[in-house]
Amino acid sequence: MGDRWQVQVDRSLCIGSAQCVHRAPDAFHLDTGRQSHPTEPETDAGERILAAAENCPVEAITVTVLGSGEAVFPPEE
Ligand code: SF4
Repeated sequence: MGDRWQVQVDRSLCIGSAQCVHRAPDAFHLDTGRQSHPTEPETDAGERILAAAENCPVEAITVTVLGSGEAVFPPEE
């Protein structure tokens, strides 16, 4: 892929299910309040990050292409 991504977690939505941490343990971690944070908000594109975003039960994870802001997940309608 070669893209760089910006990863954000909407903590008003996150319910602390930890699915993202299980799918991409390098990319997400939970704080003491069980809220998810991207380990590196600006990161190389990766399948596991995308899988984590796709599998978040409340769609709290947003991924865009760094620079252009193009939507990766959720995809643009
Ligand atoms: S999968 Fe979604 S709801 Fe669960 S901890 Fe990660 S961001 Fe929060």
